Amino acid sequence: MSKLAEEAKQQKAFGWAATDQSGTLSPFNFSRRENGDEDVTLKILYCGVCHSDLHILRNDWGFTSYPVVPGHEIVGVATKVGKNVTKFKAGDRVGVGVMVGSCKTCECCQQDLENYCPQIIFTYNSHNPDGTKNYGGYSDMIVVDQRYVLQFPDNLPLDAGAPLLCAGITVYSPMKYYGMTEAGKHLGVSGLGGLGHVAVKIAKAFGLKVTVISSSPQKESEAINRLGADSFLVSSDPAKMKSATGSMDYIIDTVSAAHPLLPLLSLLKVNGKLVTLGLPNKPLELPVFPLVAGRKLVGGSDFGGMKETQEMLDFCAKHNIAADIELIRIDEINTAMERLAKSDVRYRFVIDVANSLSQ
Ligand code: NAP
Ligand code: ZN
Repeated sequence: MSKLAEEAKQQKAFGWAATDQSGTLSPFNFSRRENGDEDVTLKILYCGVCHSDLHILRNDWGFTSYPVVPGHEIVGVATKVGKNVTKFKAGDRVGVGVMVGSCKTCECCQQDLENYCPQIIFTYNSHNPDGTKNYGGYSDMIVVDQRYVLQFPDNLPLDAGAPLLCAGITVYSPMKYYGMTEAGKHLGVSGLGGLGHVAVKIAKAFGLKVTVISSSPQKESEAINRLGADSFLVSSDPAKMKSATGSMDYIIDTVSAAHPLLPLLSLLKVNGKLVTLGLPNKPLELPVFPLVAGRKLVGGSDFGGMKETQEMLDFCAKHNIAADIELIRIDEINTAMERLAKSDVRYRFVIDVANSLSQ
C-alpha cells in the first residue's frame, strides 16, 4: 500500500508528549488508526498518572522512545465500534489499562494472562506489528482492539475509578495469585502511593489486617483514618520496625526507588510472602539467609490479564473502592510529575482530560 494510502487510514489526535529525557510534557499532534472491525474508539474523559509514566518520561528504564504520550489508566466513553464488536456499543463507559495488544495465541493469551504474552503491546511507548507507534491516554481519543477494552461499572466514579486500571489490578492480581486474601491474615503494604493506597482498600475488603510501612511519617493519620489501615510503621524508625518483627503473613512492596529488602523480610512470619511490584531503575539486593531460615518467598507480578482486570473492576464496584485522587488539568501535569517524584500526592493524580485538553 502506498504511503499516501496508509496515511489516509489515519485520523488526527491530540495530546501532551515528552520529546526528550527532561520528561517535560507539552502539546503534541499525532495520528491514530481509523476504527477497524475489531476496534473500539474512546473519547478519553480521565487518565490517571502512574509512577511508571514518570519512569518512562525520564527514561529511567533506558527504553523510552520519544516522543512519548504517557497514560495507561484511561476512562472514557465509546464513540465508535467496529462491525465485529459485540461487547460494546457507542455510549458505553469503558476503560483501557496497561496493554492494547498481544499475540492472542500463546499459552499466556489462552490462559487469560495476556499481560505475560511475549508479544504484548503496551498502551504507549510501544509499536504495533505494522510498525506504527502507540500513544497513551494523556490525549483526546484512542482506538483499541475490543479484547483490551473493559466495561467500566456504572457505580464506579469515572475520575477516581480510573487508577484502578493500573494501580488496582497491579495489587489485586498478586493478592489472588499468591493466596494473600485470607480474612484475618496480616498484610504489610510498603510504600503508600498510588498502588499502596489501593492495596490498603482492597485488602480491607478481603478482611485482612493491614499495616502500612512508609518512609513518610506525615501519612500516618490518613493511612489509618481515611484509608482504613489498622496500623502504621515508619520504615526509618528502627525501634518500631523491630517491634513488628515476624508479625506479617504477607507484604506487598510498591516502593518506586531502590531500597533494602532485609527490613521487610524481617517483618514476615515463617512461610511469609513478599511480592515486589515497584520497578526501580536499579536492581534490589536479595538477602538469602532470612529467606532460607524462614522458608520465605519473594515474588513479582505485572498488572493482570483482561479477564482478571474486569473481575477487579467489578469487585471494586461491589465494595465501593476507588482511588483517593487529586484531579488536575492537563496544563498542571509537569508540576504534578515533580510532586510525584517526591512522593507528594494524595494518592493519585488524575487528569481531567475532557475538560482541560484543547488545541
Ligand atoms: P507512587 O504513587 O509514587 O508511590 C510509590 C511510593 O513509594 C511513594 O508514595 C513512597 O511511599 C514510596 N517511596 C518512593 N520513593 C521512596 C524511597 N526513595 N524510599 C522509600 N520509599 C519510597 O508510585 P506508584 O504509581 O504507586 O508506583 C510504584 C512503583 O510500582 C513504581 O516503580 C511503578 O513503576 C511500579 N508499577 C509496577 C506495576 C507492575 O505491574 N508491577 C504497575 C504499576 C506501577 P511512602 O511515602 O509511603 O514511603
Ligand atoms: Zn501504571
